[in-house]
Amino acid sequence: MRIRAFILSLLLLPATVSAAWYEEEQDIMGTLIRVELASDDPLLAQTAIADVMDEMRRIDAAMSPYIPESELSRVNAMADVEPVRISAELFDLIDESIDFSRLTEGAFDITFASAGFLYDYRKHVRPDEVKLAEAVSHIDYHQLNLEPSDSSILFDQSGVKIDLGGIAKGYAVDRCIAILQELGINNALVTAGGDTRVIGQRWGRPWKIGVRDPRHKDRIVAMMPLENVAISTSGDYERFFEEDGERYHHIINPKTGESARELQSVTIIGDEATTTDALSTSVFVLGPERGMALIERLAGIDAIMVDGHGELHYSSGLMHPVAMQNK
Ligand code: AMP
Ligand code: MG
Repeated sequence: MRIRAFILSLLLLPATVSAAWYEEEQDIMGTLIRVELASDDPLLAQTAIADVMDEMRRIDAAMSPYIPESELSRVNAMADVEPVRISAELFDLIDESIDFSRLTEGAFDITFASAGFLYDYRKHVRPDEVKLAEAVSHIDYHQLNLEPSDSSILFDQSGVKIDLGGIAKGYAVDRCIAILQELGINNALVTAGGDTRVIGQRWGRPWKIGVRDPRHKDRIVAMMPLENVAISTSGDYERFFEEDGERYHHIINPKTGESARELQSVTIIGDEATTTDALSTSVFVLGPERGMALIERLAGIDAIMVDGHGELHYSSGLMHPVAMQNK
């Protein structure tokens, strides 16, 4: 009997223990959300994918500037008049955004939106010089007053607007990875547009993540084996239009209110997607020299930049293959 049971379990073993891979894509947050995960439990896999998509929708409903009823829209409508009470989650993300403003000497600034909302990239709309100059005078993260005692926010003056587009997708990816880990899933990828985080491996090997050529959609300029990291790319090809040979795109230099033009793309690798998302936008604004100097100062962060001529620049941590494997 014993021997038969053993043989039976041996026969059953590969079918019951080996994990299958599940994947799904949906359009949420105005971008493509992708989940890939391994599980030996099909029901758990379906639940996990549904939970990830629900979390993306929840964060979008709270933080989108395009949804008039979102918490963020409520702040933009009221915070110049009186303090607006907000959720701990939105409070903390605005607080973290201000930390990135300090770290990047204002290159990352969620009040860029004071001028940013004057652009419509799909309709090729941009402000004239007078309107832009007026709007730029309202860009300054120092005008945001967060009050922890009642979890509220107040703007110093009217005309100030905020937008979390440079950090919220990364934050959402981190939240979704936490949800998967709580469900006991240890091998997965979550992507929201240009922001990705991977845990574990894919089919027993490191994940392979590519950096696309900013000027050719189907070409890859770098490919990296990665495990347990976040990777974010900011590029001038995501949302843009061209006029008189000039490219107007969605990453705004807070000092000028105009698109940052020194780089074509920036890819940041680090532990958490909230950080890599904020830093990819920041370094895009800072440009190759100041951007690389910042990255070299930060422990556990690496960067790949494609400059205005299409040339690649790597941070020192990526020059050594061994360091890359250990990430
Ligand atoms: P990303 O998708 O990470 O490349 O970030 C681009 C998005 O960040 C834009 O669509 C804006 O919503 C937002 N953004 C643009 N310029 C800035 C800036 N200087 N600081 C913070 N957020 C920005
Ligand atoms: Mg970003």
